[in-house]
Amino acid sequence: MLRSEDHTTEIIGTIAGLKDHLLVDHRIHARFEVTFTPALPTLRKLMDAGRLHLISLMDHTPGQGQYRDVELYIARIAKERGMSVAASEVVGKRMAGREGQGDVLNALQDLSARAQAAGIVLASHDDDTLEKVELVHGLGAALSEFPVTLEAAQEARRLGMHTAMGAPNALRGESYSGNLSARQAYEAGLLDMLASDYHPASILPAVLGLAELRGNGLAAAAALTSANPANALGLTDRGAIEPGLLADLVVADRHPVPRVRATFRAGRLIYGDGTLAPAGKAERVGPVAAERLPAAARASKQGWSSSPFPGNGELL
Ligand SMILES: [Zn+2]
Repeated sequence: MLRSEDHTTEIIGTIAGLKDHLLVDHRIHARFEVTFTPALPTLRKLMDAGRLHLISLMDHTPGQGQYRDVELYIARIAKERGMSVAASEVVGKRMAGREGQGDVLNALQDLSARAQAAGIVLASHDDDTLEKVELVHGLGAALSEFPVTLEAAQEARRLGMHTAMGAPNALRGESYSGNLSARQAYEAGLLDMLASDYHPASILPAVLGLAELRGNGLAAAAALTSANPANALGLTDRGAIEPGLLADLVVADRHPVPRVRATFRAGRLIYGDGTLAPAGKAERVGPVAAERLPAAARASKQGWSSSPFPGNGELL
């Protein structure tokens, strides 16, 4: 089964085992549907093994059920855990009416404690109300991904949480499901980072599009995919172009269409579309990169020129 826990665990283990041989520094983002408690043992195992770097708490169930039956439950957990009744109610309502639900809040609190102990960042998904944001913040979530209303994004900001929204949303100017527009959130100063969501190729044009919207231009928009996510995930060795940090760089053109021309990881060229013509000097490029250079560049006898990027490539 493609999405079985065993298969996923195996893929994650394989990626971890190949860490030193891969061109990209992969991080694992686990997205946990909070009502699918059978996945918890797998999640715990992966956390204990140090395999996870970000966990999202998701709840995609419709918000209704046996409300009368859960009123007592809500009052009890609110009292026991010092949560506001409103906050507990949101979860209670959503959890109601499902068989074998178990104590979902207990499970989430346990998960949260383990994540914090292991230094794994917790995110909350599709936040829609102030109460939901309050609840997930109480559970230790540091990141609100895809807030669906402006008020939820504002509350996340007020509580010091980071916010992430989809690059396709930013590029299109609206959410495909009619929720908060990433452009609107960015203009309101409520957007910290872009996720690839369902269309990774949207990231570059989305950054360039957002750069037109606010005073800080490209630097602020590029931070949505560099400094801000690095900061939110505690990756202190990257996210800015500074001495001592990893040189993970993208060289891109804006015109005629947004296009990636080359990418570097830790200063090594790992992708080039053949238009930079850096050529030659393998010690500068690195052995992996040299193998991956286009044949024409490899064959060239010329070294790097003083300006290795002819054309109007920009560092993003
Ligand atoms: Zn969702």
